[in-house]
Amino acid sequence: MKRLILLMVSFVVLSAGQGLGGIMAGAAQRDITPPVGLEIQHYFRQSVGVHDALFARCLYLKDGEQNAVAIVSLDLIMGGFDACDYVREQILKKTGIKHSLIAFSHSHSSAALGAHNHTKVKNDTDSKWNNRTIEMIIEVVKEAQQRAEPVKLRAGRANAQVGFNRRLVNPKTGSVYMGVNRKGPVVPWVNVLVADSINSSKPIAVLFEHAAHPVIVPHTSKLTSADFPGAAVERIQAELGKEVIALFGQGCAGNINGFPLRSTHEKADHAGHNLGDAVIKAIASSEPVETKRLSIKQAHSEIPSRALPSREQWKKMSEANAEDAGRMRQLNRMKWLMDQGKQPPARRFDVYAVMLGNDWCLTTMPHEMFCQYELWIDKNAPFKHTMTFAFTNGYEGYIANDAALKMGANGGYEAASLPNWGGQVWTRHFGPPAVGCEQIIKDTLRSLGLRIKF
Ligand SMILES: [Zn+2]
Repeated sequence: MKRLILLMVSFVVLSAGQGLGGIMAGAAQRDITPPVGLEIQHYFRQSVGVHDALFARCLYLKDGEQNAVAIVSLDLIMGGFDACDYVREQILKKTGIKHSLIAFSHSHSSAALGAHNHTKVKNDTDSKWNNRTIEMIIEVVKEAQQRAEPVKLRAGRANAQVGFNRRLVNPKTGSVYMGVNRKGPVVPWVNVLVADSINSSKPIAVLFEHAAHPVIVPHTSKLTSADFPGAAVERIQAELGKEVIALFGQGCAGNINGFPLRSTHEKADHAGHNLGDAVIKAIASSEPVETKRLSIKQAHSEIPSRALPSREQWKKMSEANAEDAGRMRQLNRMKWLMDQGKQPPARRFDVYAVMLGNDWCLTTMPHEMFCQYELWIDKNAPFKHTMTFAFTNGYEGYIANDAALKMGANGGYEAASLPNWGGQVWTRHFGPPAVGCEQIIKDTLRSLGLRIKF
């Protein structure tokens, strides 16, 4: 009898050791730094050199039942739905991985990923770099998949704050302006997921997420940089070893700026170093993720745009802006829609959840989401550990919360509608999302089956 038990125990140990039925993970990275001379953004400027390299990184996770996901982290400012759809299709075609998450760090001293063979290029280098980068993203996913081995996962969190809420209200006018709002909401922590090799007992990858615009590098610097996320990766690798792949995911940073805003490369390095220290702390206090089953869900909805102004308002604005060619062009585009009896197009909203039982959940959204959405998920989703990315699988500007959208023309750069010529008025949407989008967003997130309480 004793012998039989011993035999059974050794069988179980052997199974776990080989990862049968357990979680497998692999990670890889590629340098995707654009050549000197390419335009970097935002603001737009031609690069004259490289302060630190940009990377494409991938963490591949798979369970014993063939559920798999490729989490791709890019040191790039953004990528539209056209670019992300193409990359994800190619990943499926070349690796068989159905679910991939293409997450952008939003560094403002990097480049945007355009569609494959895109024509909106300033020069040939741009187009070549873009196509090559797409190839490298597919290669990095392939390599991560090939390197997959049995792992144990750990998740944790530590206090961290790279920036501040950037929306302040002018008490005289009641309108929002950009500044340092030390009392405004932020996401004051960093979330980590670590994959430890069962064979070597050493970490192979660290996925970490924090919410802050990478805008500490000044817009006057013509050196390419990953900003603070790049420096954080360097700090983590200095601690854990160069062979450990550290991947950054940008949280809901739509209304949070890294601090100090547009200062120096050194300050960006410093902020990244501190964030890296927080990641190391979070790893030290992390807890094992026991679940062996990976589940991946997706949901989709459309976020309606704010309605066009009335014809009367439109007339007033045309008279007031008759001398401004740029504004008149936008106003005439609006008029064209009005004459067709149409409203501006909606924004696509594709969301994903990667879940490990009740232990851990990564939720991803496209766009520049306000931090209140991340705080809402974190408060209401019933997981021991959560992690939330925005800027993933597509991009069409800022998504504010209803409170900001209700401010109308006073809503500031991210949320103002006409007659305020804020950032969103310059898009094909001619303004921010409609008031009420918060409910649609929350309903879409609930439909992922996160069992969010409300
Ligand atoms: Zn932004």
